[in-house]
Amino acid sequence: MKRSYLTTPIYYVNAEPHLGHAYTTVVADTVARWKRLQGYEVFFLTGTDEHGDKIVRAAEARGLTPREYVDRIAEKFRQTWPLLHIQYTRFIRTTEPDHKRVVQHVLQLLYEKGDISFGEYEGLYCFGCERFLTRKELRDGLCPDHRTPPTPLRESNYFFDLSRYQNWLIDHLQKHPDFIQPPGYREEVLGLLREGLEPLCISRPKSRLSWGIEFPFDPNYVTYVWFDALLNYLSGIGYPDDPSWEKWWQVAEHIIAKDILKPHAIYWPIMLRALGLPVYRRLHVHGYWNLNQAKMSKSLGNVVRPGDLVSRYGADRVRYFLLREMAFGQDAEFSEEALVLRTNAELANDFGNLVFRTLSMVGKYCQGRVPVPGEETPEDRTLKERLLSAVENFAREMDHFRFHLGLSLLNEAVREANRYVDHQAPWELNKKGKQDRLGRVLYTLLEALRVLAVVLWPIIPRSSELLLGNLGLSPAEELSLERALTWGRLKPGQEVQRGKALFPRLERPSFEVPDREKDSAEEKVEEKTYPLEEFKKWDLRVAEIVAAERVPGTDRLLRLTVRCPEERTVVAGIAEHYRPEELVGKQVVLVANLKPARIRGVLSQGMILAARDEKGLKLLVPEETVTPGAEVG
Ligand SMILES: [Zn+2]
Repeated sequence: MKRSYLTTPIYYVNAEPHLGHAYTTVVADTVARWKRLQGYEVFFLTGTDEHGDKIVRAAEARGLTPREYVDRIAEKFRQTWPLLHIQYTRFIRTTEPDHKRVVQHVLQLLYEKGDISFGEYEGLYCFGCERFLTRKELRDGLCPDHRTPPTPLRESNYFFDLSRYQNWLIDHLQKHPDFIQPPGYREEVLGLLREGLEPLCISRPKSRLSWGIEFPFDPNYVTYVWFDALLNYLSGIGYPDDPSWEKWWQVAEHIIAKDILKPHAIYWPIMLRALGLPVYRRLHVHGYWNLNQAKMSKSLGNVVRPGDLVSRYGADRVRYFLLREMAFGQDAEFSEEALVLRTNAELANDFGNLVFRTLSMVGKYCQGRVPVPGEETPEDRTLKERLLSAVENFAREMDHFRFHLGLSLLNEAVREANRYVDHQAPWELNKKGKQDRLGRVLYTLLEALRVLAVVLWPIIPRSSELLLGNLGLSPAEELSLERALTWGRLKPGQEVQRGKALFPRLERPSFEVPDREKDSAEEKVEEKTYPLEEFKKWDLRVAEIVAAERVPGTDRLLRLTVRCPEERTVVAGIAEHYRPEELVGKQVVLVANLKPARIRGVLSQGMILAARDEKGLKLLVPEETVTPGAEVG
């Protein structure tokens, strides 16, 4: 049996769940589901880290006991994950009795082995970091993270001697180049190791902190929070009493954010080595989400709450966006505009549209049943081969945590399928009574949907299961990569349902050009009338396009420089209708007093007007050239 053991960090409960927590957990869940598709048995561990000084102070600030406080926050984490369709195997809390027993067991063992020593230490303590800082770490005499002066503290404590294992760890990293992924983080760790490791203080006197796990051989001390927390990866699978822990530990992979690289890449392997246990198999490190400083920040504050995002956009869109937008390992920018744009483009316009038109045509032309396919032509074969090869490449990227690349490859295949629909024009085949050909085209498309539904399940589980249901298939039976790649599983005559649109287009953000589909907002506007003064609030001007280029990494956005008469930058969603070079020199109508919005990192100062009908999109232009900046009204 192939096995996989995946962990998120246990989240420190001094704050409620935020976007960073959600990302790590969505990645772990996606990888867990991806492994299940490949036939692995998976153990997926997440949970909360509940001891330490910061917890005591957070509880005090709310007038609660530490116990009341951690119960409350842990519950918030536990309630957040199902909203995002996270399916973990165990949710561990470091205040649980089995975890405490493991921490005490390990302390006793290492103490008896001589890895832990007692000594007096005088140093500079940062209460925010909950640790002593070295002089080297200070910046202008302040803690670099908290910008506060550390407190001089003289204290007797227990220390874990890391330096004994320093050379072993350097050696291990050199022999196992993929131990830490992506490779940049491995270099960072090697750098830290070459600087040399100081003994790690692993105790806190009870006189100063009582909210922790007591030392088994000295009741005057509790355990330092990191030493306690890291051991959850063992206690969570039943170490040392439940014999099944070993089968999971052999295949352990940790997923973390880069801020906790040092404890995971240095303390933890050394603790394991000291215990005589094998180290984990791999550490996957991701970057930060930066919040968009523009427009949205006011309504969002500084925190993006996963539950709020899900209630606004649905779990599958949020999951898709997080995985598609961030290159795992690097930082990425988060904004709700980007989320709406990305998911409208790829989930609504591309994938959702393919699903909806295919199922609608099967309903209309084939009485809602899988048609009997006529002979296969080279076009059908090409689509099938391109799709299957896209899935193979997608699989390779997924295996290497390059989710953004994998999804981009899959999206290309979806667009290819949409072009196939346009070229084959099933509506024409139906009109001409070419039933055999019509049957083959729609059968090919239904099979494409089946394959896509299965391979997208790790990313958008709910929508994938709905789609399989609409195809008359049982998710329990179909969710296997091997079966997905077996072309021709759909049986002619089997009933399919059109179902509801999987990803209805979200209301467009204010900067997007008008769209062909009338959304509810537009309909409401039609019912109402406004006095002329309302219209006069809008500053409409003629602007001349002086430069145009694609916004990198997007298919629909152009960055325009316009003169009106001053120069401005405008981002417009028209790249599918105009090439940049045909726009330069054109005069257009600009809404000049829209609130600026940052779109894909570009500050857009206005919106240009366009009209759309079934033939496409056309910009509004003055009949003859006028002076740039001329008023419209
Ligand atoms: Zn600090």
